Amino acid sequence: MSDQSSFSTRAIRQQMERTQYREHSTPLFLTSSFTFPTAEQMADTFAGNAEGIIYSRYNNPSVDEFIQKMCSLEGAEAGFATASGMSAVFSSLMALVRSGDHILATRAVFGSTHQILTSLMPRWGVSHTYVEPDQQDQWASAVQENTRILLLETPSNPGLALVDLEAAGKFAREHGLILMVDNCFATPYLQRPLELGAHLIMHSATKWIDGQGRSLGGMILGDQALMDEIVFFCRHTGPALSPFNAWLMSKSLETLAVRMEAHCKSALQLAEWLQKQDGISAVSYPFLSSHPQHELARKQMKLGGGIVTCTLAGGADAAMQLVNRLQVCSRSSNLGDTRTIVTHPTSTTHSKLTEEERLAVGISPGLLRISVGLEGIEDIIGDFAQALAPQ
Ligand SMILES: *Cc1c(COP(=O)(O)O)cnc(C)c1O
Repeated sequence: MSDQSSFSTRAIRQQMERTQYREHSTPLFLTSSFTFPTAEQMADTFAGNAEGIIYSRYNNPSVDEFIQKMCSLEGAEAGFATASGMSAVFSSLMALVRSGDHILATRAVFGSTHQILTSLMPRWGVSHTYVEPDQQDQWASAVQENTRILLLETPSNPGLALVDLEAAGKFAREHGLILMVDNCFATPYLQRPLELGAHLIMHSATKWIDGQGRSLGGMILGDQALMDEIVFFCRHTGPALSPFNAWLMSKSLETLAVRMEAHCKSALQLAEWLQKQDGISAVSYPFLSSHPQHELARKQMKLGGGIVTCTLAGGADAAMQLVNRLQVCSRSSNLGDTRTIVTHPTSTTHSKLTEEERLAVGISPGLLRISVGLEGIEDIIGDFAQALAPQ
């Protein structure tokens, strides 16, 4: 299969070599280690002079298939699969920073990424500065002599703030920084940061990549030289993804394109409907013309993604009341599932932040995050309609 094949063909047809059984669907290699025919071949493999798989903390055929597919879909030279999205973020940062380094990050990063930057990295003498995602003209003043990494997320969770990836890539090159992008919300189907100048990307495969709310997983992908350092770090510190989860995720990639098309179509429909409802003061979705970065969204994303946010005019109480009244949608904190999930960030995922910190990343008390699933959208709209109706 050629590199020029379409996205879905690569996601479906790229597969590990068949075993002697000529199985059609890809097999699962649930084994922690591998054997060698002779002591000499084992020695050669350990010395790096012969092909062979040693141990599943290093690599595993089921995990390798998932990595190779993701490399092909993201246009990456190399990758490493991790047990969760956060282990991808943490391992890639820890593999590259040294004590005394400084990280530049856009303010709207994932909650646990914020904890790594603010609570953990200072233990090892690594500092950070937040910059505003949509004010790139001000980033240069935050660059220090010891700045090594530019870390960003677009669209952000849950504020749906976008960063101009092409401009960020240019900025990183001008200032000699490693550009790392959390591409979780977009997936490679909607946005490919490596093609726009990023050096590394991270994924929480738990979300749209698995797409069915079954298991945790993560991935780090990017330039070979940086990945060599990261793979060394990961092999010896042990965040490896389980072969079982990799097997699930690799199968999930086969339907990523059709799923994302459907999630995005329904999300746009729901966003347009929500905009017209009384009691809702704001709706945010990258492909709505009312989104402040709508043009940028159209430029760097194929579709708007599966997340919509809306703000209840009545604040936190009205938001929680709406959540309580929903009968079809799930009250949960995950996203990227076949099932529509509604989350109230102020009282749950972002409750540890101060009010001021929440407002700075666009989380007002009445904000709800909706991860639009694959149910019939008329049923989801109907659910919101009955929950919003005066009772
Ligand atoms: C969920 C999420 C993560 C963390 O992923 P886990 O798989 O839960 O560890 C990181 N970044 C973003 C944008 C996320 O939504």
